[in-house]
Amino acid sequence: MRMILLGPPGAGKGTQAHYLVEKYGMYHLSTGDILREAKEADSELGRQAKAYMDKGELVPDEIVIGLVREKLQDPSVRLVGFLLDGFPRTLAQAKALDELLDELDQELVAVVNLEVQPVTIVERLAKRRVCRECKASFHLEFNPPETEGICDYCGGELYQRSDDQEETILRRLNVYQQQTEPLITYYDQKGLLVNIDGERSVEEVSEAITKQLEELTDKHDCA
Ligand code: AMP
Repeated sequence: MRMILLGPPGAGKGTQAHYLVEKYGMYHLSTGDILREAKEADSELGRQAKAYMDKGELVPDEIVIGLVREKLQDPSVRLVGFLLDGFPRTLAQAKALDELLDELDQELVAVVNLEVQPVTIVERLAKRRVCRECKASFHLEFNPPETEGICDYCGGELYQRSDDQEETILRRLNVYQQQTEPLITYYDQKGLLVNIDGERSVEEVSEAITKQLEELTDKHDCA
């Protein structure tokens, strides 16, 4: 399976990625996770990305494209396929991805677009807590961990991302609308877009995605 999860910040991309990777076994490539890890490790990449991330702005295309290129070229990723989460976020990134997949002689199967209203996003992100270890995501009200501050899956520490403060959330939403939303039309025109109502429960959204993916892969198999 080779797919993209598209949608505004807080649409549930990371949460759904968790389920999909378990089901299909593809490689989960979250550019946000990689950049955050680099930032925490204070590596060269992290230092380059920090100022943009803290402001809720996009890290320059060349940096992110280089990072994705390196991962997708890896022979083990080529074998199992991938789920891109948080990439591409600009038209330049989408075009670079097309070129890279051409080089690798690979095709995307689907671009799943999680549709969520801005008001829901602010509510979700302000109360989001993320595991430092496995990156699982919780919501203090709708999906709280069994023990406060501790991840249900791996026992890791839960924390609030520095860009999940209200002012930065609004900035990120604005950046999404200006720079990432045009990708919806881009992938629709390529016949790859699958729209999913992301306002429902985690389980309902997950079922809806799986159902659509199964229909798509059946079609591929029959063709
Ligand atoms: P995320 O975890 O996907 O919400 O990403 C967190 C932050 O990392 C974003 O607000 C950006 O600053 C940066 N980032 C992640 N993915 C990308 C990307 N594809 N292009 C540019 N910046 C990115």
